[in-house]
Formats: sequence, C-alpha cells, structure tokens
Amino acid sequence: MSIDHNAVREAFLSMGLYGDPENGLIRRFGVLLYIAPVDYWVARELDFISKMGASARKLSENVLIDAAHWCAYGTFGGIMASAEWAAMIAPHIQTVHDKLSGLVAVTNCLGWGHISDFQLDEQNQTLELTVEHSYYVGYWLDKYGKSERPICYMWTGVAAGYMDLLFGNKVHEFAAEEVECAAVTGGTRCRFRAERLKKKFAL
Ligand SMILES: [Zn+2]
Repeated sequence: MSIDHNAVREAFLSMGLYGDPENGLIRRFGVLLYIAPVDYWVARELDFISKMGASARKLSENVLIDAAHWCAYGTFGGIMASAEWAAMIAPHIQTVHDKLSGLVAVTNCLGWGHISDFQLDEQNQTLELTVEHSYYVGYWLDKYGKSERPICYMWTGVAAGYMDLLFGNKVHEFAAEEVECAAVTGGTRCRFRAERLKKKFAL
C-alpha cells in the first residue's frame, strides 16, 4: 500500500490551518504552528552568518543546519505521534519507505518548497532528497544573485532529521549535506544527501 499524497493534501487543507478562536494558536499534528513571511526567516539566518564573521562562516552554517536538524526531529516526531497521523497516514504504512513518503506528503503541505523526488536506500541507510523551489532560493537570487555555496540550511537539517526518525534511536545519528543548490545554479532544484554519521562531534 502506498501513501496517497493528494489525499494527504486534501485532508491537511480540510484541517483549517488558522488560529483557535479561544487562544489564537494553531495546534495541529501535536505541535504548535504559525505562519511567518519567508523573507523574515531567511534574512534572520543570513544576518546571523554575517554577524558571526567570515572566519566563522562554516561554523555558523553548521549551527543553522543543526538547529533545523533538532527542529525536524522534534516536529516530525510529534507529527508521527499525532492523532492526525494515526488517522490519515499510519494505516497506509507497511514499509520504511511508506513512512518517509508520509513525511514527504505532510512536508509538501507546509509551504517550504516541494519535495519532487526521494531515493531511500534502506540497506545502506542513505537518503537523496530533491526539493524544487526551496524557500531560501528566491530570496537569495533576488537579493544577491547567484551564490557561491549552497544556502538551504533548513532543508539540510530536515534530510538528516528524517533519517534519525526512520533508522536512528536519537537525534544526530545521521548527517546531511546539500549537494546541489538552486541558489548556485540559478535553477529551481536543490538536492540533499543524508547518511549515518561516521564521526562524533561533527559540528
Ligand atoms: Zn538550495
């Protein structure tokens, strides 16, 4: 049995992603959601890198990836433990691939861009993720033109977080990198690769 992404999308939209009339909060999937402009998030991350200075650029980027990794692990872990997941997606899961497909179906409803392909090698425990229209890219290209390096830190953390949830026992058993970024190529496609972490303290 496979995950029907269109059915997940229909169900997701029918949940009504707006603030509760009483407390104003959007409680869905076992987590609190809110809606914020992409420019705010991207500018915030780029300001952080800038303020840390050129000599700390790699460290700053890894900090952002790590923050997203933790966030993905917590948020998608919450999503998989939610009543909505149990009702909509869990009955259709038979394999690890199905579970990832369910995560992708939900992720593609979040406004972050579109995961157009994912290749999961269960034996070697590797993941290749293709994202079209990553939310970082339009902002970067409009503001700076082409980048010299990949800049989609959140997606990199998400790729690793998925794998920790699918194959690990805790966060940081996997790591990911962005191997192709549309901010570099000027196109729309970014690609990410995740694998089991080989060394400790790889920040
Ligand atoms: Zn990218």
